[in-house]
Amino acid sequence: MLDLAYETPKPKVISGATGDWELVIGLEVHAQVATAAKLFSGASTQFGAEPNSNVAFVDAGMPGMLPVINEGCVAQAVRTGLGLNAQINLWSAFDRKNYFYPDLPQGYQISQLYHPIVGEGEILVDMGPGVARKVRIERIHLEQDAGKSIHDMDPTMSFVDLNRTGVALMEIVSRPDIRGPEEAAAYVLKLRQILRYLGTCDGNMQNGNLRADVNVSVCRPGQYEKYQATQDFSHLGTRCELKNMNSMRFIQMAIDYEARRQIAILEDGGSITQETRLYDPDKNETRSMRSKEEAHDYRYFPDPDLLPLEIEQAWVDDIKASLPELPDAKKARFVADFGLSEYDAAVLTAEAENAFYFDAVAQGRDGKISANWVINELFGRLKKDDKGIEDSPVTPAQLGGIVDLIASGDISGKIAKDLFEIVYTEGGDPAEIVATRGMKQVTDTGAIESAVNDIIAANPAQVEKAQQNPKLAGWFVGQVMKATGGKANPAMVNDLVMQKLGL
Ligand code: ADP
Ligand code: MG
Repeated sequence: MLDLAYETPKPKVISGATGDWELVIGLEVHAQVATAAKLFSGASTQFGAEPNSNVAFVDAGMPGMLPVINEGCVAQAVRTGLGLNAQINLWSAFDRKNYFYPDLPQGYQISQLYHPIVGEGEILVDMGPGVARKVRIERIHLEQDAGKSIHDMDPTMSFVDLNRTGVALMEIVSRPDIRGPEEAAAYVLKLRQILRYLGTCDGNMQNGNLRADVNVSVCRPGQYEKYQATQDFSHLGTRCELKNMNSMRFIQMAIDYEARRQIAILEDGGSITQETRLYDPDKNETRSMRSKEEAHDYRYFPDPDLLPLEIEQAWVDDIKASLPELPDAKKARFVADFGLSEYDAAVLTAEAENAFYFDAVAQGRDGKISANWVINELFGRLKKDDKGIEDSPVTPAQLGGIVDLIASGDISGKIAKDLFEIVYTEGGDPAEIVATRGMKQVTDTGAIESAVNDIIAANPAQVEKAQQNPKLAGWFVGQVMKATGGKANPAMVNDLVMQKLGL
C-alpha cells in the first residue's frame, strides 16, 4: 500500500430518540471478469448477443459434460488480487453451491467457499483531498454467474436466456470497515477504478457488470472500536443484506433507509433479524426477500469434476510485473512531479485513459498549464460534444504543441483558445497553423508602441480619467489588444500603456 498521509473520515452518525447510532457496512461486490470466454467453457461472453446463442453444452447442464477451467479467468483474478495488495493463494479449490433456479441448469453454482484464490488485501477509499478510509478486503473468489429469467415479455410464459450462464465473476468481499452511505459509494467507485485500470472488469454497472450486495448494521458509538480491537463480531449489530445494487445513488439511499429502519426497530425495543432484503427505488424502501441462508442450506461440497487449482509463484510474479501504475500511485506522482493540486490529480486519474492522455501532454512540459488545458479546454469541449477521451479529435501531441506555443510566448492565452478550436475542428499541426494563418503574437515593441500611441491619441478624455484613476488603464490595454487582433503580447502592452500614461 502506498504510504500517503491521509486523514480518516468520521463515521456517519444518526441521532435517534434514545441517543446516537453509527453505521457499519460491508460489501460483497460481484465483478464480471473481462475475458472473451466463460469460466468453464469456450462460449463467448459478448454482451447483448442474440438470446441463447452463447451457450456451450456444459453451460446448459447437458448430461456428461465436464467443466474445463479457463486460464485467462484465473489470471484476471490473480491480477485483481495483486492490484488490491492481497494475498494470492497458490492452492485454491472449487465447491458446488446447490440450489434450483430456472436460469441455472446445472442445479448448482460452481464457487469457492472454503479455499478462495485471493485472501486478505486492502483498498484506500478517497473521501476528498487528503481524506481517505482504509477498507480491508477479506477475500476474492471465482464463481459462475447465472442466466437470466425473463418474466415480463409474455403474459402466460416466462423465458430464459442462458448467455450469461457460466460467465466468470469475481466476488470481492470487504470487511465491515465502511462507515457511511457516501463511503460505500466511494468504495465501489474506487474498486471500479482499480479494476478498470487493471483491465480485469469493464465496470459497466448498467449492464450489471459490477453489482454489490450491501450489508448494513447499526451500533452505539464505541462498539466499532471494540470490534476493531478484537475482531469479535458480537460487538456489532445484526446485519441485513441488500441484494444486487447496481447504482451508486441507490446504494446510498438504500443504506440510509435501511439504517433508519433498523434504528426505529431497536429503539422500539425490538431486535433485527438477519435477512436478505431488496431495495425498491420507486418507493425508497427495503423489503424482506428471504431469511438469511447459511452455507449448510446450500450443501456446499468440493466439486468432484474439478481438480484443486494449483498455480505457481513464478506465474504470479509474471502477472505482478505486468501490472500498470495504479490510481493511487499515479495520483501521487502527478502531485509530486507536475505540482498539481490533489483535486486536479484526482480528476485526471479518475479514468485510466484520461491519465494516459495527460501524462503524454505533460511529459517535458509545464504540468499545471498542461493540466489546465486538459481539464478545462479539452474535457470541456469533449463534454459539449458528448464525446469521451478515446474519441478526442485532438491528440496529446497536438495539445502539447499548443502548450509549447504558449510557453514560448508565440501565442497569447486568448489566441491559444482560437487555435485549439481550429485544431479540434480541422486538425493540423498547431505550429504550422499559427505560422500560415498569421496568429503569432506580436512581440515587436515598435508595432505595439504605435498601436498604443494611436489609441491614446484618439481618446484624450479617457486618458485624463485614467490618470486620475489608474484602474481605468485596463481599458487601454483592451483597446490595443482589440486593435492588434489579440496578437499583441499582453504583458508588453500593459507595460507600454502604463508608461505612456505616466502611471
Ligand atoms: P455471507 O455469505 O453470509 O453473505 P460473507 O462472509 O460472504 O457472508 O459476507 C458477509 C459480508 O457482510 C462481508 O462483506 C462482511 O464485511 C459484512 N458484515 C459482516 N458482519 C457485518 C455487520 N455486523 N455489519 C455490517 N456488515 C457486516
Ligand atoms: Mg456472501
